[in-house]
Amino acid sequence: MIARLAIHGGEPVARRAWPRWPAPGRRALRELAQVLHSGRWTISTPYRGRESVEQRFAHAFAAYCGAEHCVPTATGTASLSIALEACGVGAGDEVIVPGLSWVASASAVLGVGAVPVLVDVDPGSFCLDPAAAEAAITDRTRAISVVHVYSAIAEVAALAAIADRHGIPLVEDCAHAHGARYRGRSVGLSGSAGTFSMQGSKLLTSGEGGALITRDAGIARRAEHLRADGRVLSREPVGTGDMELVETAEVMGANACLSEFHAAVLLDQLELLEAHNEVRRRAADHLDDRLTGLGCTVQSTAPGTTARTYYRYAVRVPGELLAIAPLDRIAEALTAELGFPVQRTYRPLNDNPLHRPSSRRRFAADASYLERVEPSRFPLPVTRLVHDSTLTFGHEVLLSDVDGAEHIARAFEKVVANVRLLGE
Ligand SMILES: *Cc1c(COP(=O)(O)O)cnc(C)c1O
Repeated sequence: MIARLAIHGGEPVARRAWPRWPAPGRRALRELAQVLHSGRWTISTPYRGRESVEQRFAHAFAAYCGAEHCVPTATGTASLSIALEACGVGAGDEVIVPGLSWVASASAVLGVGAVPVLVDVDPGSFCLDPAAAEAAITDRTRAISVVHVYSAIAEVAALAAIADRHGIPLVEDCAHAHGARYRGRSVGLSGSAGTFSMQGSKLLTSGEGGALITRDAGIARRAEHLRADGRVLSREPVGTGDMELVETAEVMGANACLSEFHAAVLLDQLELLEAHNEVRRRAADHLDDRLTGLGCTVQSTAPGTTARTYYRYAVRVPGELLAIAPLDRIAEALTAELGFPVQRTYRPLNDNPLHRPSSRRRFAADASYLERVEPSRFPLPVTRLVHDSTLTFGHEVLLSDVDGAEHIARAFEKVVANVRLLGE
């Protein structure tokens, strides 16, 4: 099939309005109006006679995940820093971080004064490679932080076993994987803590927001202190007009509280999550079949995955195509056919302009620290290979179901069939 590519002025495969993200559900306005008139816009102002929305969300999200404890936070980055600190990570400690992730995986570690040790990923799942993680452990390693990148679930059992063997905590960064299940259980519960981002691009969002889940009461209590300036919500009923946050001063904290408005939006969005995940899964299953048929390799997930979600759909382009046309050109051609951005993965964290500790004077207090955190110190050959051969796009287009997925498959088909035109 010879066709003029859209990038060369031909007719695009899809001229459709793709679903937009985020989008409010039915509850959002009602919940927001209640907060607006409640006289309490955050848990750090006096109690007004009814349970905070923040706690209503915490209970709802804990129940959804099957977690004993949930501590909401202002951002996902805060939840990750707080999880690490609540697990005992501190100044100068090494934390194993996957080489392929959003910069927050590294910046959250820097945020607690620790050293992000960038470790290579698995070429199939793009998630932290357990063997590489174990090889990177030293006597200064104090935690392993794993990301279920683009919602593929990492080899959690292997990583948890390594963490146990070395007596260090495993923190699961589930910023891409709200609703994903591993061995029948929510992600985030196989290690010491799981963290979530509710930033605007994520599967569950309030624009900005985050949460930590854990089965460990001690970690939850420290996390509570850390996110509310050393205060925890009273376990006893308090009177209207009284502060619900109690100044225990057990641990000093900072302010990373989720506002009542954000919690209200999250209650609305949580109601939609399962149905959205189901539609995305159906669309992705169709794409998996079609793109595999075209010689592409779809991102794999750990064998124990019992519910896959999709934050970004990721697929590796076969080497034969890359020998003919550069990956960026293929991405541009697909973008032109589809009318939404098809992009490469995150840049490897050892060569990512967003991860540049030397640009912050606060990290220069100790010259040896700057040396230890220098990103280019860490070789990441597999992460580089993945970055040089993988295309991704956002989850919202998968909400167009199998019909939209078929359009996406046809765009790939057209570009693959005409790839020679891109190499010229
Ligand atoms: C989005 C994200 C975060 C951080 O979340 P924010 O809410 O933006 O602070 C952390 N880790 C990963 C993998 C993310 O994608």
